[in-house]
Amino acid sequence: MNTLDNLLQRNKEFAVKQSAAGTLMPSLPQAMPKVKAIIIGCADMRVDPAHVLGIQPGEAVVLRNIGGRITPGLLQQLSLLGRIGEVAGKIPGGGGEFQIIVLQHTDCGITRLARDPALLAAYFQIQEGELKKKAVTDPRAAVAADVVALRAVPALPGTWLISGLVYDVATGLVEIVVPPAPIRTA
Ligand SMILES: [Zn+2]
Repeated sequence: MNTLDNLLQRNKEFAVKQSAAGTLMPSLPQAMPKVKAIIIGCADMRVDPAHVLGIQPGEAVVLRNIGGRITPGLLQQLSLLGRIGEVAGKIPGGGGEFQIIVLQHTDCGITRLARDPALLAAYFQIQEGELKKKAVTDPRAAVAADVVALRAVPALPGTWLISGLVYDVATGLVEIVVPPAPIRTA
């Protein structure tokens, strides 16, 4: 069986299971209220939040890019997400506690790009001289910097809890670097 056949077979099993459990969510307004978190993570195949954190369908919106970093592109995705919520008539986190989680990890591929500052500067849309504050070689410092960056986004509701985590690819465990706290205190 080739790779695609194998994946399609897994999909059939997924569909049967979800259908039997009544957990399919065919419309966005139906799905939105179930979302309890937005997770920002790295595209690395070892660190899928669905695996690492046991995220089930409908539980969280997951945005992934290289490094799980806050970049202008990521912020644009967040902005569009908010708009989709408005259009669907449901704002994520409209009721109850809502989390925004930045999940980065050890041995991230982005650290290997440290030798290519022009590429990284373009990714973050900053000058090469400002790259130091992005801490691309230190996941703990990077996740802390990105939580600070998200706190500075006025469009994010102040009551949402924000946290920064680092997943250790050697142990499979997640470490809390920035404990959950409201984005802004009133
Ligand atoms: Zn990574």
